[in-house]
Amino acid sequence: MRIGIVGGSLGGLFVAALLHADGHEVHVFERTAGGLAGRGAGLVAQHEIFEVLRRLGTESVARVGVVAYERVVLAPDGSIASTEPTPQMQVSWDGLYRALLAHVPAHGYHVGDAVTAVEQTATEAIVELASGKHHVFDGVIGADGLGSVVRALVTPTQRDNGYAGYVAWRGLLPERDVPAVASSMLFERFAFYFMPGGQALGYLVPGPDGEITPGHRRYNWVWYRQAPGLPNLRRTLTDLEGRIHPYSLARGEVADGDVETLRKAARTALPPAFRAVVEAEPTPFVQAIFDHESTRMASGRIALLGDAAFVVRPHTAMGAAKAAGDAMTLVAALRRLPVREAFVAYEAERLPVGRRIAAYGRQLGAALQPA
Ligand SMILES: Cc1cc2nc3c(=O)[nH]c(=O)nc-3n(C[C@H](O)[C@H](O)[C@H](O)COP(=O)(O)OP(=O)(O)OC[C@H]3O[C@@H](n4cnc5c(N)ncnc54)[C@H](O)[C@@H]3O)c2cc1C
Repeated sequence: MRIGIVGGSLGGLFVAALLHADGHEVHVFERTAGGLAGRGAGLVAQHEIFEVLRRLGTESVARVGVVAYERVVLAPDGSIASTEPTPQMQVSWDGLYRALLAHVPAHGYHVGDAVTAVEQTATEAIVELASGKHHVFDGVIGADGLGSVVRALVTPTQRDNGYAGYVAWRGLLPERDVPAVASSMLFERFAFYFMPGGQALGYLVPGPDGEITPGHRRYNWVWYRQAPGLPNLRRTLTDLEGRIHPYSLARGEVADGDVETLRKAARTALPPAFRAVVEAEPTPFVQAIFDHESTRMASGRIALLGDAAFVVRPHTAMGAAKAAGDAMTLVAALRRLPVREAFVAYEAERLPVGRRIAAYGRQLGAALQPA
């Protein structure tokens, strides 16, 4: 079969690589010019990710990562309030991206041209590009994340994401730039600090090229802070040139005044180790937290996968694993059934899974949500 995939991040690549391995012709359309290499940090590789990689014969990618040996909760004075010996490994997002990309033919990964719409007839599915070109397929998979254009066809009355009322401020520091007061307390640990309506956490992730040796890793910190209501959200997502972004501000897009406000807040609200990493980050970035639960994952020859179908809270650490699970189910269905029937079977199997993970995420994030 000839399958078009909208979105070339992990979700799109999981399904593209598996479909290609099954002998299908795949074309992935990623709007980001030059692709996504170098844009990720780290993620917890859950078993669905291992399973996809195992099927592709490249499982070792997810076996190499940075291990946090214990979980600690810090007290306001910076001492350790509690410890739990639960090791967790962060693998390189970029390493995974590159490994998956190697399993998709180069001529099937199209970058720098956004999909503007998908359409379908009884016999084909059509992808329309911003360049004015269009491509015809037997089926199209929307792996285009929380701003999905493919949702318009599958769930036309249900396209928006629900804002959860809080945002994640983030920083990603080369290990060597982390002040000693922070590295001595935070390194090799998954560290948390809880405050009313907020939470800071952090852990080491591989370096930009997947480096896991001490000295070459990066420290990833996240500070969840409430920003209740849409006016507050718009204010938070206004960049240094006054433009309002829908979901996040990337590195370098946050106005100087907002960076200063964040640092000032860190000085009063966070224990010394977290305060130090927030202050050491020259260009913090911010990502708003959304929920989205699709009522459908397929319509005729079009299916939704990953964040396009269900946006779950990041506390679950299951976004990529969910996309991997979607991909395996969809590819298995396409082995036994023609496209439309396969997509119906896929939806029946994965809707309950998406709902379950979304509910779990809301539960984990409940304390962060404004009343
Ligand atoms: C650059 C990047 C870095 C990330 N880094 C991390 C990380 O370090 N750790 C972590 O846990 N998670 C990270 N994530 C998120 C994580 O990969 C996803 O939440 C999860 O894997 C589900 O992925 P997805 O493919 O469904 O959606 P997404 O990862 O959101 O991907 C959607 C893709 O679709 C593309 N797209 C959207 N609209 C269009 C369109 N109209 N036409 C063409 N393309 C379109 C987007 O550019 C994007 O690449 C990152 C995501 C991205 C995009």
